[in-house]
Amino acid sequence: MVKMHMCICLCLAVAISGCKKLDPPASAKIVIAHRGASGYLPEHTAPAVVMAVAMGAHYIEQDIALSRDNRAIVIHDIHLDAVTDVARIFPGRHRSDGRYYVADFTWQEIQKLTAHERIDLASGAAAFSGRFPLTGDLPFKLMTFEQELQLIRGLEKSLGRRIGLCPEIKSPEFHRRQGMDAVGLVLDILDAHGYREKSDPVLLQCFEFDALVDARRRFGTRLQLLQLIGADSSRYGWMVTDAGLDSLAQVCDAIGPDWRRLAELKDGEWRDRGLVARAHERGLRVFPYTVRDDVLPKGMADAASWYRLLYRRCNADGLFSDFPDRAVHFAKRASARR
Ligand code: CA
Repeated sequence: MVKMHMCICLCLAVAISGCKKLDPPASAKIVIAHRGASGYLPEHTAPAVVMAVAMGAHYIEQDIALSRDNRAIVIHDIHLDAVTDVARIFPGRHRSDGRYYVADFTWQEIQKLTAHERIDLASGAAAFSGRFPLTGDLPFKLMTFEQELQLIRGLEKSLGRRIGLCPEIKSPEFHRRQGMDAVGLVLDILDAHGYREKSDPVLLQCFEFDALVDARRRFGTRLQLLQLIGADSSRYGWMVTDAGLDSLAQVCDAIGPDWRRLAELKDGEWRDRGLVARAHERGLRVFPYTVRDDVLPKGMADAASWYRLLYRRCNADGLFSDFPDRAVHFAKRASARR
């Protein structure tokens, strides 16, 4: 009942914020709400999704891991313990590394868990001290991917506009080792909900290039694919070479690099490293991750400078932010200047 009240309150917030169409023109700068409005509410919960939509985010991100009974669960990690009370509800159900894996729990069991703000596992303290409190007994819940699609489809109907999806298939290789096909399952769910074409508002993302190659060639998807590119050069460095970008462009429509691949701090000033221009030459759009207004990088005066750096100086097509309202503000300003 409390959960329903939370949803109703947030839905009212949507209504109050206005129902204008927010589908941006092709040239406009995009906002991807990172795990929903995760700067304000526990990540990937229904209230965080609704709040991100109310704030005008163009796309909502869903990270997806599979449960033991092969349900697609929207959760950032393949583990449950940093964002739920799993250790209290199911003591002893961890693996030898001490972690509680989504893949070891059924959806029925996962529904018994309460979600909360991300914690630092070593200390048990909130990972982001200024965000939603850890205390209290609010019944935040994890959702299946299908439930989140129902929520987004419902909001599309009531708001009269499309809302983009940005599903990330987490660790396909890990899931394969558990005997699970995460790529196939996510594509099946998207297809069942009517997301099939390149023109559909979906950016399907993954860190593992092989999984995106599989999605395109083995499953034949026509959806837009986004290759995530981590900061670790031993694993991802090849992707940002000219030959690497050429290979990505054969399969993908966009890249999602760690934002530090776009900019570098030189002589006290953040400068464009030229990656966006090289990606654009190959027809790849660029969506760096992740702007967190409450965790400023070294040498960044304020969050506004960070948004301006990525949207304007580096000319990113969009970005992932934990604070979609702030991102929308700077995306609009940057679009107006384009
Ligand atoms: Ca993600």
